[in-house]
Amino acid sequence: MQGGSRSHAFPAGMVLGYPRLGRRRELTAALTAHAQGRLSVAELRAEADAIRSAARERLVQLGLQPADSSIPESFSLVDHVVDAAVAVGAIPRRFGEAIDPGGDASTASLMLARGTENAPPLNTAAWFGSLYRHFVPEIGPTTRFMLNAQQFVRDLSESRAAGYTTRPVIVGPVTLLRLSTADAGAPVGFNPLSRLADVVPVYAELLAKLRHAGAEWVQLDEPALVGEGVSERTLAAAQSAYTALGAAAGRPHLFVATAYGSIGDALAALAPTRVEAIGVDLVSGELPSRLDNLTRARVAEKTIVAGVIDGGNVWRGDLARALEVAADVRRLTRSVAVSTSSSLIHVPHDVANEPELDARVARWLAFADQKVEQVAVVARGLALGSAAVASELRAASAALGDRTSAPGVRDAAVRERVATVTAETRTRVPYTERRDVQRTTLGLPPLPTSTIGAFPQTDEIRAARARYSSGIDSAEKYVSAMKQAIADIIAVQEHLGLDVLVHGEAERADMVTFFTENLEGFELTRNGWVQTTAGDCVRPAILWGDVSRLRPITVAWTRYAQSLTRKPLKGMLTGPATLLSLSFVRDDQPLADTAEQIALVLRDEIADLERAGLQIVQVDEPALAERLASGSSDLGSDWAVRAFVLATAGARPQTQVHAHVCTSDPGAVAAAIARLDADVTGFEAGRAGTQGIEGLRAAGRAERDVSPGVYDVRSPRIPAVTEIEERLAAALEVVGADRLWVSPDCGLSARTYAEATPALGNLVEAAQRVRARL
Ligand code: GLN
Ligand code: ZN
Repeated sequence: MQGGSRSHAFPAGMVLGYPRLGRRRELTAALTAHAQGRLSVAELRAEADAIRSAARERLVQLGLQPADSSIPESFSLVDHVVDAAVAVGAIPRRFGEAIDPGGDASTASLMLARGTENAPPLNTAAWFGSLYRHFVPEIGPTTRFMLNAQQFVRDLSESRAAGYTTRPVIVGPVTLLRLSTADAGAPVGFNPLSRLADVVPVYAELLAKLRHAGAEWVQLDEPALVGEGVSERTLAAAQSAYTALGAAAGRPHLFVATAYGSIGDALAALAPTRVEAIGVDLVSGELPSRLDNLTRARVAEKTIVAGVIDGGNVWRGDLARALEVAADVRRLTRSVAVSTSSSLIHVPHDVANEPELDARVARWLAFADQKVEQVAVVARGLALGSAAVASELRAASAALGDRTSAPGVRDAAVRERVATVTAETRTRVPYTERRDVQRTTLGLPPLPTSTIGAFPQTDEIRAARARYSSGIDSAEKYVSAMKQAIADIIAVQEHLGLDVLVHGEAERADMVTFFTENLEGFELTRNGWVQTTAGDCVRPAILWGDVSRLRPITVAWTRYAQSLTRKPLKGMLTGPATLLSLSFVRDDQPLADTAEQIALVLRDEIADLERAGLQIVQVDEPALAERLASGSSDLGSDWAVRAFVLATAGARPQTQVHAHVCTSDPGAVAAAIARLDADVTGFEAGRAGTQGIEGLRAAGRAERDVSPGVYDVRSPRIPAVTEIEERLAAALEVVGADRLWVSPDCGLSARTYAEATPALGNLVEAAQRVRARL
């Protein structure tokens, strides 16, 4: 092929996006330093450029080419959705003059993500069922779209100057609008997608600018075009947007990437447009089984980017199969490129960063860097035939075989136990009966006051945990530090006059690690960080085998805390769906099966807590509302609901089970409440203000106790007594006083005592005042 046309060819292998944190979480450190005023925006950008430059070099080492557009320009300072919003000028009205749409794009993104003095930050929402949370742009009928190409042009040019021709990656117009919410003041029923025709010309301008700056290919991410609930309207929007962008003058080649599910009808919608390449997820999705002749003919002229390497999970997987799947795409077009199924932001940087990981488990894994190598292997196999990569395929198959037969992957005892579960195992005595027993034994006042679990994680607590986990402190020293923390926390609660106490979760760095450390079947990493939002990240556990409990997990701390008070203490567990959502799950069996194993572990833990004298247990399931919101309509068969029930149904009638489901919209889980069959269900309605009342009304219909959450714990603001009274009064309009609990929205780990103590004091006082008026 001639040099000229060669430069237009799509790279044979590439990834849709690469982790942005940096191998040592440089992004987290830089964003924190900037937030604390230790770094200017310019210095922050310099840190970001260092991360980008290291990523480029690494990707070339791993087999991508510096100049063929195979390297994605997928870095983002805070979030890729915010970047797209800033690029098209979608600044919510409520930010007023604080953000200049034509000003510095990095500054604008940071302000939208962090908020300003007068404007709270944009909300966040789960990005296509993953742990990553994107910011939610606010778009209204009067949003004035205008181009701010700075950030995208700058990154591209910086790479060009360093000798790389990279491929800018931008959230596409349809996905941007689908992920946006109506700007405050928009008329009821306003749909941001109605602004498509106004935003597309701005994208056209952006594309032209990028072409001018040297981009040969631009990737437009359109994951909103796939999945169960994609509407005709969305598909029509995609067709019209890409027809327009395809016809725009002076543009680079266009690669529209879908991900997170089967492309379905979106393929036929994109086929008639002039985009040159379409990305399909062939890991969690597949190609449409039939295509009409016209679509077929049109697709044959495009490049299909076959996402055959799993971007959403950490398994090394079946490489030979990935090659077969990629080769199968040739029945649609001769031009097939190999890629990941999604961006690699969902996996950590590198398995080689994990010297302490069990060597056998490590061989089964592929993090981002290993996946890039896998893409390169499959691309080579596709070009030269599988014989050319025979040894790589063999090594991958051997690892897969080892994983199938390794001890612990299937544990006969665990499997037998799951097999004995019956309908009875899943049923408690009827709620009303339990409720009467609990009323008598607990003897709580109306509107009982409590908290959701965690107390402030002070520097002392963090330091004690760190000294212990790095081996500096002995177990005895650690235990006595934690006991001291618990004693302090109990004393604070006694002093405040709360009715139901908690032990405060000092021993937990997060909701999951503390549990998984004590479970068979999980491995923990040292550096396996995955971005959640901006600089925030989590280290998911790797769930590789059947799950059983090595020992009681929470009992010792909880028993100790209960021994310090005569008030009832609420034990604190993380629920099955949340444990799974914060783990890399196994791909060799349905999630539902894994969830049942975890449920049985929690069931045993609850039984042990009961034996230790606990009368109340809370199971935290923040992951549940997201799951239910993402569309599972049949609650009875939803694995997350079933697992919650299996975990809690063994509790004695006199044990009060609380479900904390974390959502700020009680209506979102209203239908699930009766199914969960918890005695008390808690939310974060405080964040939603009095708007949450309708949702609370719906939740109240389940005839259970509710703990709506009376103030937002995410803000350092201390709520006034009268404000909490108002919230309670509003709640009492829709639920009876005998069923209303009083608590903050969620745990207090991110707060200081200077914030938490007065806030809780006001909470207790408000409850007392309202009680006095009953
Ligand atoms: N018990 C946990 C805490 O207080 C609940 C966390 C959550 O719901 N996200 O921190
Ligand atoms: Zn919560």
